Amino acid sequence: MNFSDLASKALRDEALSRDEARAVLCASSNDFEAVMEAARSVRETYFGRRVKLCLLLNAQSGICPEDCSYCSQSKISTAPVEKYRLLAPEKIVERAQEAVEAGATRFCMAIAARGATERDIQHIGQAVEQIKSDPKTAHLEICTSLGLLNEQKCQELKRVGVDYVNHNLNTGPNFYPKICSTHTFSDRLDTLRNVQSAGLSTCAGGIVGLGESVDDLLDMAFALRELGVTSIPINVLLRIKGVSLENNAPVPGLHALQAMCLMRLTNPRAEVRAAAGREKLGELQPRVLWPANSLFVDGYLTTPGESAATVKAWVEAAGFEIETPVAV
Ligand code: SF4
Repeated sequence: MNFSDLASKALRDEALSRDEARAVLCASSNDFEAVMEAARSVRETYFGRRVKLCLLLNAQSGICPEDCSYCSQSKISTAPVEKYRLLAPEKIVERAQEAVEAGATRFCMAIAARGATERDIQHIGQAVEQIKSDPKTAHLEICTSLGLLNEQKCQELKRVGVDYVNHNLNTGPNFYPKICSTHTFSDRLDTLRNVQSAGLSTCAGGIVGLGESVDDLLDMAFALRELGVTSIPINVLLRIKGVSLENNAPVPGLHALQAMCLMRLTNPRAEVRAAAGREKLGELQPRVLWPANSLFVDGYLTTPGESAATVKAWVEAAGFEIETPVAV
């Protein structure tokens, strides 16, 4: 396979064929650098050497009635995570201020729930309106991850100033019933379509290491393309004690990187975000910036990550630059 031809194809906005996408994900170690180079050239065309920092808030933790088998907050998890109901708007606003101090330009908030209630949306809306009306935080892109949402709830999020709604596909449709029984892949697609109908941008990605096949990851990559998702977080499974998938095999670093390259080459203009688990790549971690243009700082929903200072140091050492706000 000529991977530079695949980069050219992606840059012409042409979809890779299934065989080409498979070649990216399954390339031998001899072809690894060629795959990375193809992803880098596409990434640099749309995002230069810039890296967007995102800061995440777990706004309601550990009390989800769903049974997602990878999640430490699900009803079937025994992981010792903090449990609390939706934080007060002022706590959410405080965390947005911390996002600015950390140099993040996107502030993401998530709740552990099947789906936000109307009251939750109102409550989050108050916080978002405050964030957007304060000159110190107004430039932050706001992303909310609130579970399954109907169109009316999405419209309300749009009204208060939310920019993105995150709702991950997590894997392909055939494997989905193996990782969750309380909702379906098509429920997730419905939410993403509601997000788009309301004029909000979509953030949706997945997790590598659930036990999925190559075809499941290909299915997910093409489903994201078909939806026109604009932000794609890729997580590497965190094998947290007490979570059903805690004994899954660790994900080889090269495979995780090739999965990110797959997302970049199948969704060339999307933001690709190296999310939870990237730290497990060790020395290979800076290579996530070949396909990805966005990173989380200061931890994840229930697990610690790297501080903003640590992330900035290795990003700059790798020759990339931290994105600054467009207008303050
Ligand atoms: S819906 Fe979200 S918070 Fe709830 S178990 Fe699934 S992944 Fe975890």
